[in-house]
Amino acid sequence: MNASPEHQRILLDVADLDRRIAQAERARTKPSQAARIGELVAIRQEQLRELTALTGTRDDVRTELTRLETDVSLVEKRRARDAERLATATNPKEAQALEHELASLARRQSDLEDIELDVMGRVEDADAAVAAQQALLDTTTAEGTALTAQAKADVAAATELGAQLARDREAVTDALPAPLLAEYTRRAANSAGAALLTRGTCEGCRILLPGTDLNDIRRSADDAVVFCPECGCILVRTEESGL
Ligand SMILES: [Zn+2]
Repeated sequence: MNASPEHQRILLDVADLDRRIAQAERARTKPSQAARIGELVAIRQEQLRELTALTGTRDDVRTELTRLETDVSLVEKRRARDAERLATATNPKEAQALEHELASLARRQSDLEDIELDVMGRVEDADAAVAAQQALLDTTTAEGTALTAQAKADVAAATELGAQLARDREAVTDALPAPLLAEYTRRAANSAGAALLTRGTCEGCRILLPGTDLNDIRRSADDAVVFCPECGCILVRTEESGL
């Protein structure tokens, strides 16, 4: 295949653009934040499960406290009623029974109040546990929200860059003969496509070419298209090639 040295040099720009287009495509489809965002989704689910469990426990303890408060208030009412009846009791047997019940109710109230104190402490602990878990969840959510916003901005920038590079590529390849571009495209599937030959080294695969290959290249006409024997890309020769 033959192509003018100018056209061959343009292939280096195409190869560079293709590298940057691939880079932009990677940034668009796999933003750097994606892995951490995935981790945060899993962490958040776990923290939410824990929060639901802790909230359930707290609600149970609160219900227990409400029940105790009701019990205490019932005992108080009954004590007041009994005391009233005792004040007006004329029958000694009835008075004795009331005194007995009042003593028993006092013990009952004292016991209930002891339990109430204990449950109030448990409510406090449960509230603190829920608040701490909610704070953990909020931190995770905030990190996720910030990273998602960053990722969206990065994806938008990469999309814009990719479109700009594609326009640049179109402008550059417009000048190339179709067979040369087709040859480049075919070879670009498995290599850099085209690379500069510098001091006997292919810039595409960084391998120093054997002397016999270099001699063949030296003997080739300027408009001959030559290929790297290692990676198969089109080797572009310029003044820098040091042939
Ligand atoms: Zn090579």
